[in-house]
Amino acid sequence: MLYKAADTRYDTMTYRRSGNSGLKLPAISLGIWYNFGGVDPIENSRTMLRTAFDLGITHIDIANNYGPPPGSAEETFARVYQDDLHPYRDELIISNKAGYYMWPGPYGEWGSRKYLVASCDQSLKRTGLDYFDIFYSHRPDPDTPMEETMAALDFIVRSGRALYAGISSYSPSKTRKAAEILRELGTPCLIHQPRYNMFDRWIEERGLVDALDETGMGCICFSPLAQGLLTNKYIDQIPEGSRVDKYDNSLHWGDEVTDEAIAKVRKLNKIAQERGQSMAQMAIAWTLRLPQMTSALVGASRPSQIEDSVKALDNLEFSDEELAAIEAILAE
Ligand code: NDP
Repeated sequence: MLYKAADTRYDTMTYRRSGNSGLKLPAISLGIWYNFGGVDPIENSRTMLRTAFDLGITHIDIANNYGPPPGSAEETFARVYQDDLHPYRDELIISNKAGYYMWPGPYGEWGSRKYLVASCDQSLKRTGLDYFDIFYSHRPDPDTPMEETMAALDFIVRSGRALYAGISSYSPSKTRKAAEILRELGTPCLIHQPRYNMFDRWIEERGLVDALDETGMGCICFSPLAQGLLTNKYIDQIPEGSRVDKYDNSLHWGDEVTDEAIAKVRKLNKIAQERGQSMAQMAIAWTLRLPQMTSALVGASRPSQIEDSVKALDNLEFSDEELAAIEAILAE
């Protein structure tokens, strides 16, 4: 059936400015790392993208390697975009990234100009878009001069392939350096995409938030739910069809369904209930309490999760007592 976006799509979502830039992002954005690949049913992916946009989620985050197989999440996006979303291109912020392994040989990963530009061109082709809104260096490359990687981002913007440049998982010192180079080139770095959630607080502990303040960059945190751990789904068992169940009982980035983690989630869930929120909603709201946080970048496996996650915005306030109680549980 022909899709028409909900007339109510801008009624409840809040939009936050990315750092010092002119660009506002929805406080909750949707990433298509999992559940949008060639192995996943297209109609579920389509409904999730429609649901997100209907709720005011104007920002969809992609990368070259999302699938599986790599590249197929872009193809899924292309189908839904062609069928449903293309009338709304100017209402959408679509990001893409290059940095991780994508093709064999010396030019298929990391941060050379050769790889970044070639990958961006491939991604434009696979998604069927004329340009991306944000293009990221997906990870810092220890062996390529930072000047080269940043010049490639600058070129990608200047050549019209993207409107803004971003970096992901760069340390505070690398973030400062990247910001300086990009500023000198005349393409200020719009945004940093680090991992951040209750179980992974490196951006606070290692001072990335200070670097963001200094450089005027925005911030969009990935895996605010620790891939589903910070929800109530694993409290009693590993449910069928969950990410842990589907992917050989494992999650990336060191997340693990351990007894210790689940014990903490049970206690956190009590605080969430007292706040009138689901565990997922509280975990998302908690990431958004940082003044530097522009957006929480969630994933989903079904439309109802997106609806649930967006309701986090109904209660973003934390009392000092609630924050202290959360800290105490996390420190156990
Ligand atoms: P989350 O931490 O939000 O985890 C998403 C998973 O949590 C879903 O697949 C689902 O698990 C579960 N979930 C989501 N909402 C709910 C809910 N309301 N209630 C219960 N369970 C819920 O994020 P991701 O780890 O998926 O990452 C989000 C995005 O961040 C990615 O899509 C990608 O765009 C980006 N990213 C960027 C990286 C980078 O290097 N820059 C690295 C990783 C991600 P289930 O599938 O089991 O149902």
